[in-house]
Amino acid sequence: MDQIKIGRFIAEARKSRGITQRQLADELSVSDKTISKWECGKGLPEVSLMLPLCGALNITVNELLTGERLSEADYRKKAEENMMELMEENRENKKRMALSVICGIITIIAVLSLIVIAAFIEMHAALRIAIIVFAVLTAAAGIGAACVLEVKAGYFECPHCKALFVPTTGEYVKGFHTLTRRRLTCPECGKTSMCRHRIVR
Ligand SMILES: [Zn+2]
Repeated sequence: MDQIKIGRFIAEARKSRGITQRQLADELSVSDKTISKWECGKGLPEVSLMLPLCGALNITVNELLTGERLSEADYRKKAEENMMELMEENRENKKRMALSVICGIITIIAVLSLIVIAAFIEMHAALRIAIIVFAVLTAAAGIGAACVLEVKAGYFECPHCKALFVPTTGEYVKGFHTLTRRRLTCPECGKTSMCRHRIVR
């Protein structure tokens, strides 16, 4: 998906209807910051907003995802390409999520084995300390890798404005979390809340 092209197309279609970002935002019950973000190519509208947006702009979803008006002949071809791209994106996200879980499991097994070795096997004290230090480093590296993979897998959804966003790794690591939610600040409305992790758009 070419977000820049899609953004330009949204701006074009809005202007040809002669309405401001604010007016379009009101029609869709989103903030004008959201419209501005789409038009700058910094994010795609989430799926539940695509139909209302296209209705307001008098375009089709297929044209929105392609970023241009389509002739009858191009229509089918582009529709298939767009569908494949969305599926591809979701598959990539699922793969990252699975890798993150595998990475976490391997880390736990490795660290537990090292601790068992250090605790129960007869050895020199220095070697025992070295193994413990190594176990701590392994845990840190494993957790870090799992986080980096997970933060890139999909999106977080703001419960207030329903915006989908990818947090920075720093913000992500600091955020208090449960299995499916994480405390994050929404870049759209600025509210801090428990945001749900969504793998697919
Ligand atoms: Zn929000």
